[in-house]
Formats: sequence, structure tokens, C-alpha cells
Amino acid sequence: MFKHLKAVPGDPLLALIVAHQQDPNPKKIDLGVGVYKDDLGRTPILESVKKAEALMVANEETKAYLGVYGAADFAPLIQNLLLGKDSDIIKQGRIQSTQTPGGTGALKVAADFISANLKGARLFVSDPTWGNHVSIFNSAGVEVIEYPYYDAVTNDVRFDDMMAFLEAEMKAGDVLLLHACCHNPTGVDLKIEHWHTLTDFVNARNVLPLVDAAYQGFGDGLDEDMAGLRYMAAHTPNMLIANSFSKNFGIYRDRCGGLSVIAETAEEAKNAFSIIGQAIRANYSMPPAHGATVVHTIMTNPELYAMWQNEVTEMRNRINGLRNQLVQKLAASGVSKDFSFIEKQRGMFSYSGLTLEQVRKLRSDYSIYIADTGRMSVAGVSDSNIDYLCESIAKVVG
Ligand code: PMP
Repeated sequence: MFKHLKAVPGDPLLALIVAHQQDPNPKKIDLGVGVYKDDLGRTPILESVKKAEALMVANEETKAYLGVYGAADFAPLIQNLLLGKDSDIIKQGRIQSTQTPGGTGALKVAADFISANLKGARLFVSDPTWGNHVSIFNSAGVEVIEYPYYDAVTNDVRFDDMMAFLEAEMKAGDVLLLHACCHNPTGVDLKIEHWHTLTDFVNARNVLPLVDAAYQGFGDGLDEDMAGLRYMAAHTPNMLIANSFSKNFGIYRDRCGGLSVIAETAEEAKNAFSIIGQAIRANYSMPPAHGATVVHTIMTNPELYAMWQNEVTEMRNRINGLRNQLVQKLAASGVSKDFSFIEKQRGMFSYSGLTLEQVRKLRSDYSIYIADTGRMSVAGVSDSNIDYLCESIAKVVG
């Protein structure tokens, strides 16, 4: 039955993690993996999460099924966090939200919904984007097209090229995927003026924006990071939002996220949402409870909520502080290349501008593990490895 099957190559990033684990060099550094790490290289459970879990264990009364959308009172929490609690869209009932198994689950449901109901719609994604965007939509039968985004020369967004491409290629009914903040993999975000221009474009072209919000709180702040998304949502009739709680609550393996649909009227939003419910039922039936109960417990308990906000601030400040230190120390190491752009990037990742050859040399000669694209996970840097990292980069770059 399976004799004709050939093994497919695994994810190169996972291979990088394994290679790092097996490397005996005590100075080895893992800058591949996409999870937050503290200065000791650990991915800790947040204090607010630990406390919420204790409350959960004490108070949980049943493990009975939840329903396709998860817990009913979870939706307002997603909406308040994404749009702000005073949002008119929420007041008008134009947004409906469901809990999903992580941001990936949200994207998968969105892909199935688009494939089955928006016939002929194509998905436009940034070049580059998170690799799973392409896999998820392709597997749902949606054609994926890349638009110009990252400029390797300026380490910025190629916004004029991006708009020219979208103007030339997008048709009414197509879907435009945008990263709300902390663009993965580049760390280069759209500026608010870009969101304004894109909002005019999606309205004029009748294109559906799908915003992926996987890193809320990791850029400039929980509200600040949603500025572009909120502007667009307030000025366009329709939007899909896939959000993840994996990073900002540090509950990666518990699989918790959300999918929201915004429509022109409350009735349209409800209709679309009922179809999204069908897509969920046919996918995984209903989301797991643990992560969502933790998020719910924290967000409805003022003391835990304040504690969580401080913990998000701490994670964000650590990453942004590391960006600053990297720039200073690389400059001090006498490296010929200008790395000051690293400080302007946001979120967990940085396109470092290192070439494939330089990345390979860092791996083979210095046991520093960076993805082939040059994407570095900034959280993998620490006080104890930053000097070695900067010296090694200086030696390799020259
Ligand atoms: N979108 C982007 C851009 C991501 O980087 C990730 C996680 N790497 C996700 C979505 C999915 O997150 P989750 O782990 O919650 O499925």
C-alpha cells in the first residue's frame, strides 16, 4: 500500500535545532528556533500563566465538550485585545470570533472558508513570509502569489514595488495577507502610512484583507502593535483576523488562538461565522480547552491581567534591548557592514542580511546556528553569548 511513497524532506529549521542539540561545542548558540527565551536560554512559563493554571485546576468542574467555537465568553476577549474594548465594530456586532488551536488553526479554518466560499480567490502573501502560510493555503486548494515586500539592500519594505504589484495583479475578491506586526521572518513592519495606503487600495479594489496577528505585544506594545490593523478595520467593510496566543502568553504547546470575521453588517458577520463553524467541525470538531481557559482566567482577573501585561512588557523590552546591544557591539567589533537596521526591526526575528555563505561559516566554524535565509531569532541572544556572537559575525563578515 505504501511502497510507492517517498519520504519528503523535513523542515530545515527543525533540522537546524537538531544539529544545534548535537553540537558538543560549549559556546554553541541557537538563533533558529522561533520561541521566546530568557537570558538563561529558557522558555519559561509566565508567572501569570502558572497562577491561572492553579486556579483552573482548583475550579474546573467538567471536561465535557466545549462546542465548535470553544468557550462562548472567549470571543469578547479576543475582540477587545485585537480592536480595543471601545471599538465601534464590536459595539455594532460586526465582528464574530472563535477560539482556534493556535494561530495555525485559525489560518487553516480561514483557508478552508475562503476556498469553499470565495470561489476563485487567490491569496497574496509577502515575499518572504512565514512558510506555513503557503503550505496551509495550498493544501486548501487556494493559489498563493507572492508580492514584493522585503528590500535586502535597504533592509526596509519595498512599498512602492509592493503597491505597483498589487495594483497590477490583484482582482476583486482576492485575499491580501498582511502581518499585523513583528513580520516573520524579516522583522520589518509596515508603517502606519502604509496601512493607510493599503486601506484605500483594498476598498477601491474590493479585496479581502486577512491579517495575521501572531506577535501582539512583542513590537511596541499590546495596543501600539495593533495600530495598523485597527485603522484598516475601522475603514474597511470586511476583514479576517487570525491571531495567536502562543507567543504573548507563552503557551505554545497548548494551542490557543482565534479567528475573527468582520463584515459590513452584524447579520453578514453571523452568516459568515456559521459557515466558519462548519469548516471547524469538518477540521478538528472543536478546539482544546486548556490554553483558552488560561487566557480567559488571566484576562478576567485584574491582578493576573496586570501581571501578564508586565510580563509581556518584560519580554518585549528584553528583545528590543538585545537589538540595541547587537547594533552597539557589532559596530564596536569593527565589522565592515552597517547593522543599525537591526534596531529598527521588531519582534522575535531579524533578517540579518548575512549571506548563505556567511551563515554556513558561522555554523561550521563557530557553532552559531542561523537559518539559511539569514533569519536570526533575536531572543536566542543573551548576556553570556552576545560578545562571542558579535566577534564571530565580525570575523565572518570582515
Ligand atoms: N503566523 C505567524 C506569522 C507565525 O510566525 C506563527 C508561529 N510561528 C503563527 C502564525 C502560528 O502560531 P501558532 O503557534 O499559534 O499556531
